[in-house]
Amino acid sequence: MKSLLISKLRDKATPIAEFRSAAYQLGDTLAHITMSHFQKKEVSIQTPMGETTGVCFDEPVVLVPILRAGLVLLPPFLSLFPTARVGIIGLKRNETTAIADQYYENFPKLSSEDQIIILDPMLATGGSAIKSVRCLLDKGAHPNKIKMVCMIGATEGIHLFKNQFPQVDLIIAQEDSVLTEEKFIYPGLGDFGDRFFGTE
Ligand code: URA
Repeated sequence: MKSLLISKLRDKATPIAEFRSAAYQLGDTLAHITMSHFQKKEVSIQTPMGETTGVCFDEPVVLVPILRAGLVLLPPFLSLFPTARVGIIGLKRNETTAIADQYYENFPKLSSEDQIIILDPMLATGGSAIKSVRCLLDKGAHPNKIKMVCMIGATEGIHLFKNQFPQVDLIIAQEDSVLTEEKFIYPGLGDFGDRFFGTE
Protein backbone atom coordinates (compact mmCIF):
# COMPACT_ATOMS: atom_id res chain seq x y z
CA MET A 1 0.00 0.00 0.00
CA LYS A 2 2.81 2.39 0.99
CA SER A 3 4.61 1.82 -2.32
CA LEU A 4 1.38 2.34 -4.33
CA LEU A 5 0.79 5.67 -2.59
CA ILE A 6 4.40 6.78 -3.04
CA SER A 7 4.24 5.88 -6.75
CA LYS A 8 1.09 8.01 -7.07
CA LEU A 9 2.83 10.91 -5.35
CA ARG A 10 5.99 10.55 -7.47
CA ASP A 11 4.15 10.51 -10.81
CA LYS A 12 4.16 14.03 -12.25
CA ALA A 13 0.98 13.18 -14.23
CA THR A 14 -1.01 12.64 -11.00
CA PRO A 15 -3.74 15.32 -10.88
CA ILE A 16 -3.87 17.51 -7.76
CA ALA A 17 -7.00 15.85 -6.31
CA GLU A 18 -5.37 12.40 -6.52
CA PHE A 19 -2.10 13.79 -5.19
CA ARG A 20 -3.95 15.18 -2.15
CA SER A 21 -5.83 11.96 -1.60
CA ALA A 22 -2.63 9.86 -1.77
CA ALA A 23 -0.88 12.30 0.59
CA TYR A 24 -3.66 11.98 3.18
CA GLN A 25 -3.72 8.19 2.85
CA LEU A 26 0.05 7.96 3.30
CA GLY A 27 -0.27 10.37 6.24
CA ASP A 28 -2.81 8.00 7.78
CA THR A 29 -0.45 5.03 7.30
CA LEU A 30 2.42 6.98 8.89
CA ALA A 31 0.19 7.98 11.81
CA HIS A 32 -0.59 4.30 12.48
CA ILE A 33 3.10 3.36 12.23
CA THR A 34 3.96 6.18 14.64
CA MET A 35 1.30 5.01 17.09
CA SER A 36 2.79 1.49 16.96
CA HIS A 37 6.15 2.93 18.16
CA PHE A 38 4.62 4.10 21.43
CA GLN A 39 4.52 1.98 24.57
CA LYS A 40 0.96 1.13 25.57
CA LYS A 41 -0.25 0.61 29.09
CA GLU A 42 -2.09 -2.59 30.02
CA VAL A 43 -5.56 -1.94 31.39
CA SER A 44 -8.43 -4.05 32.57
CA ILE A 45 -11.56 -3.73 30.42
CA GLN A 46 -15.12 -4.70 31.19
CA THR A 47 -16.83 -5.92 28.00
CA PRO A 48 -20.61 -6.57 27.99
CA MET A 49 -19.59 -10.27 28.41
CA GLY A 50 -17.04 -9.96 31.20
CA GLU A 51 -13.55 -8.77 32.06
CA THR A 52 -10.48 -8.81 29.84
CA THR A 53 -7.19 -6.97 29.48
CA GLY A 54 -6.53 -4.40 26.83
CA VAL A 55 -4.11 -1.56 26.17
CA CYS A 56 -4.39 2.20 26.25
CA PHE A 57 -2.17 5.11 25.38
CA ASP A 58 -2.52 8.15 27.57
CA GLU A 59 0.72 10.13 27.31
CA PRO A 60 0.51 13.82 26.36
CA VAL A 61 1.24 14.26 22.65
CA VAL A 62 2.34 17.42 20.88
CA LEU A 63 2.22 17.49 17.09
CA VAL A 64 4.65 19.88 15.42
CA PRO A 65 4.06 20.42 11.69
CA ILE A 66 6.84 22.32 9.93
CA LEU A 67 5.25 25.00 7.74
CA ARG A 68 4.09 24.71 5.16
CA ALA A 69 4.21 21.12 3.84
CA GLY A 70 3.98 19.62 7.35
CA LEU A 71 0.40 20.94 7.60
CA VAL A 72 -0.65 18.15 5.24
CA LEU A 73 0.22 15.52 7.87
CA LEU A 74 -1.76 17.29 10.59
CA PRO A 75 -5.30 16.00 9.78
CA PRO A 76 -4.36 12.28 9.67
CA PHE A 77 -2.27 12.61 12.85
CA LEU A 78 -4.99 14.57 14.67
CA SER A 79 -7.52 11.89 13.82
CA LEU A 80 -5.32 9.27 15.57
CA PHE A 81 -4.15 11.60 18.37
CA PRO A 82 -7.32 13.68 18.86
CA THR A 83 -6.26 15.23 22.17
CA ALA A 84 -2.81 16.28 20.98
CA ARG A 85 -1.70 19.86 21.41
CA VAL A 86 -0.20 21.47 18.32
CA GLY A 87 2.94 23.57 18.04
CA ILE A 88 3.83 25.27 14.79
CA ILE A 89 7.27 26.06 13.44
CA GLY A 90 7.81 28.02 10.22
CA LEU A 91 11.00 27.30 8.30
CA LYS A 92 11.69 28.49 4.80
CA ARG A 93 14.48 27.18 2.67
CA ASN A 94 16.71 29.91 1.29
CA GLU A 95 16.69 28.95 -2.42
CA THR A 96 20.32 30.02 -2.92
CA THR A 97 21.94 28.50 0.16
CA ALA A 98 19.32 25.72 0.77
CA ILE A 99 19.61 26.60 4.48
CA ALA A 100 16.35 26.74 6.45
CA ASP A 101 15.56 30.09 8.08
CA GLN A 102 13.03 30.16 10.92
CA TYR A 103 10.36 32.84 10.48
CA TYR A 104 7.62 31.69 12.87
CA GLU A 105 6.93 29.63 15.97
CA ASN A 106 3.95 29.15 18.25
CA PHE A 107 4.25 26.32 20.79
CA PRO A 108 2.23 25.18 23.77
CA LYS A 109 4.23 25.00 27.00
CA LEU A 110 6.44 21.92 26.65
CA SER A 111 7.78 19.54 29.27
CA SER A 112 10.16 16.57 29.20
CA GLU A 113 7.06 14.33 29.63
CA ASP A 114 5.56 15.33 26.28
CA GLN A 115 5.68 12.90 23.38
CA ILE A 116 6.54 15.12 20.45
CA ILE A 117 5.88 14.23 16.81
CA ILE A 118 7.48 16.52 14.21
CA LEU A 119 5.76 16.39 10.83
CA ASP A 120 7.39 17.19 7.48
CA PRO A 121 6.76 15.15 4.31
CA MET A 122 10.25 15.66 2.82
CA LEU A 123 13.62 15.34 4.55
CA ALA A 124 16.22 16.53 2.04
CA THR A 125 19.39 17.97 3.63
CA GLY A 126 18.01 17.36 7.13
CA GLY A 127 18.47 21.07 7.93
CA SER A 128 14.81 21.81 8.80
CA ALA A 129 14.45 18.65 10.85
CA ILE A 130 17.64 19.40 12.81
CA LYS A 131 16.62 23.02 13.42
CA SER A 132 13.19 21.92 14.64
CA VAL A 133 14.61 19.36 17.08
CA ARG A 134 17.07 21.95 18.46
CA CYS A 135 14.24 24.40 18.95
CA LEU A 136 12.16 21.77 20.82
CA LEU A 137 15.10 20.73 23.03
CA ASP A 138 15.63 24.40 23.94
CA LYS A 139 12.00 24.50 25.07
CA GLY A 140 12.38 21.53 27.41
CA ALA A 141 11.53 18.52 25.22
CA HIS A 142 13.35 15.22 25.94
CA PRO A 143 15.24 13.76 22.92
CA ASN A 144 14.01 10.23 23.70
CA LYS A 145 10.44 11.49 23.39
CA ILE A 146 10.77 13.15 20.00
CA LYS A 147 9.74 11.44 16.76
CA MET A 148 10.39 12.87 13.31
CA VAL A 149 7.92 11.69 10.66
CA CYS A 150 8.51 12.05 6.91
CA MET A 151 7.22 10.54 3.69
CA ILE A 152 10.47 10.62 1.69
CA GLY A 153 14.00 11.19 2.98
CA ALA A 154 17.33 11.53 1.16
CA THR A 155 20.05 9.20 2.43
CA GLU A 156 22.44 12.11 3.06
CA GLY A 157 19.90 14.02 5.18
CA ILE A 158 18.88 10.87 7.05
CA HIS A 159 22.51 10.18 8.02
CA LEU A 160 23.13 13.75 9.10
CA PHE A 161 19.95 13.78 11.21
CA LYS A 162 20.70 10.41 12.83
CA ASN A 163 24.28 11.50 13.62
CA GLN A 164 23.06 14.66 15.32
CA PHE A 165 20.18 13.07 17.22
CA PRO A 166 20.66 9.31 17.63
CA GLN A 167 17.94 9.16 20.31
CA VAL A 168 15.26 10.73 18.12
CA ASP A 169 13.03 8.15 16.41
CA LEU A 170 13.01 8.85 12.66
CA ILE A 171 9.99 7.37 10.91
CA ILE A 172 10.22 7.51 7.13
CA ALA A 173 8.12 5.81 4.43
CA GLN A 174 10.72 5.89 1.65
CA GLU A 175 14.46 6.51 1.45
CA ASP A 176 15.84 7.95 -1.83
CA SER A 177 19.56 7.85 -2.43
CA VAL A 178 20.23 11.09 -4.27
CA LEU A 179 20.19 14.73 -3.24
CA THR A 180 20.63 16.98 -6.28
CA GLU A 181 22.90 20.03 -6.38
CA GLU A 182 19.79 22.15 -5.84
CA LYS A 183 19.09 20.02 -2.73
CA PHE A 184 16.05 18.28 -4.16
CA ILE A 185 15.44 14.61 -3.49
CA TYR A 186 15.89 12.32 -6.52
CA PRO A 187 13.78 10.59 -7.77
CA GLY A 188 11.60 12.18 -5.07
CA LEU A 189 8.37 13.82 -6.15
CA GLY A 190 9.36 17.42 -6.86
CA ASP A 191 8.29 20.19 -4.50
CA PHE A 192 5.72 18.61 -2.21
CA GLY A 193 4.21 21.91 -1.05
CA ASP A 194 3.84 23.26 -4.58
CA ARG A 195 2.16 20.07 -5.78
CA PHE A 196 -0.20 19.80 -2.80
CA PHE A 197 -1.13 23.48 -2.56
CA GLY A 198 -1.20 24.08 -6.33
CA THR A 199 1.45 26.80 -6.27
CA GLU A 200 3.85 25.39 -8.85
N1 URA B 1 11.28 19.55 -0.33
C1 URA B 1 10.49 19.10 -1.33
O1 URA B 1 9.30 19.37 -1.37
N2 URA B 1 11.06 18.28 -2.26
C2 URA B 1 12.35 17.95 -2.25
O2 URA B 1 12.80 17.21 -3.11
C3 URA B 1 13.16 18.45 -1.20
C4 URA B 1 12.59 19.25 -0.25
